[in-house]
Amino acid sequence: MPALLRQLSGLGGCTHPIRLDGHRTEYDLNTRTSEIGNALHHLDSTSLPAGHLLVRCNNRRTTRCPACAEVYRRDTFHLITSGLRGGKGVPERVAAHPRVFATFTAPGFGPVHNRPTGPARTARPCRCGTLHDQDDPALGTPLDPDTYDYEAAVLWNAHAGPLWRRFSTYLRREVAKRASLTQRAFGEYARVSFAKVAEYQKRGAVHFHAVIRIDGPEGGDTPPPAWATAELLTDSIETAAAAVRVDGPVIDGRAHTFTFGRQLDVRTIRSADFDGGQELTERAVAAYIAKYATKGAETATGALDRPLKFLAELAQLDISDHARRMIRTAWTLGARKELEHLRLRTWAHMLGFRGHFSTKSRRYSTTLGALRTARAEWRRAQAATDTQTGPDTTLVLAHWVYAGTGLTDAETWLAETLEPAPGTEGEPTRG
Ligand SMILES: [Zn+2]
Ligand SMILES: [Zn+2]
Repeated sequence: MPALLRQLSGLGGCTHPIRLDGHRTEYDLNTRTSEIGNALHHLDSTSLPAGHLLVRCNNRRTTRCPACAEVYRRDTFHLITSGLRGGKGVPERVAAHPRVFATFTAPGFGPVHNRPTGPARTARPCRCGTLHDQDDPALGTPLDPDTYDYEAAVLWNAHAGPLWRRFSTYLRREVAKRASLTQRAFGEYARVSFAKVAEYQKRGAVHFHAVIRIDGPEGGDTPPPAWATAELLTDSIETAAAAVRVDGPVIDGRAHTFTFGRQLDVRTIRSADFDGGQELTERAVAAYIAKYATKGAETATGALDRPLKFLAELAQLDISDHARRMIRTAWTLGARKELEHLRLRTWAHMLGFRGHFSTKSRRYSTTLGALRTARAEWRRAQAATDTQTGPDTTLVLAHWVYAGTGLTDAETWLAETLEPAPGTEGEPTRG
């Protein structure tokens, strides 16, 4: 029992671990002669208390695995933070580079229930005549579902990724233009980096939050040119976002074109030192992005977090009529041959969006992979402190095969008796 508890505690709370069958042996390796020496450690899954090697599922979705999603959220927080104030291999000078936090929305697809605010931030009634409560589930849903443009709404989500990619090209062009540089010369002086996250509005439309930064030619390691200011960046973002469009399919004689909505919010990010309580701080931005990185379409659909196999499943789901209609529209459009490339049936549960939830440009900061590797190495180093072997003198032979997913009932019961893993210092809690 204590041995099984120890093995389960190594999962850090993951409730859907991957179970592996196999073995791993570490041998002493003479690096000079390449001779293989004695076996130092041998691990066989059959000798493990659970009968298998258990590996964390690493799912980013809170609804799938809260513990792994929490690790993902923290990693994302560090990834965003290091791009804002340095650390994890990123120089601290990035904090002095011009940086903004921008929110890009989808255009309107028809009037929705809302909570307009009048003078002095007083809430006014919606067009339907009701003064909606802040957490009224009707908020964001169409006033008239029969005239709401579901087709355009789903197709917009399906083209949001390409729209963002084209925007980032336009943005570099706009920044270069303001610096009186050609596109080609621009790279010798500056670089535009970003990290973004996708979030669903209640109406089921994807929108993007992004940290956008101007660096010198080698990214965060080099200072930006003197002309690079947050104002120039903001102005460039506004122009590029207004100009960008992606041509979509022609459906039943109607040509679809996709643009961002008029609501664009761009705010300069200040270092905490300059924060007078009014400014948007690095910490707030990182916490915000990290929080949304662990979510799917749940804001709009409830707990639907996996693909549908049949449309009939939709009837069983506890979701809003609006979400149901978005999904049904994606499913119906998914049958069209000319829309095959959008894979709308596979992504119907995501309301058509098939992009990545959080993406960043190569030079923004460190990577999630680097953070995971660092963590694994730290654990290995901890485990190896009482042996004499260094990693460069060890040969590892391992063979593992997939044996299943999840915990047995008894393991689940035992795992629940474990204390939650201690948190990492210096981060805001989920909120
Ligand atoms: Zn997990
Ligand atoms: Zn209303």
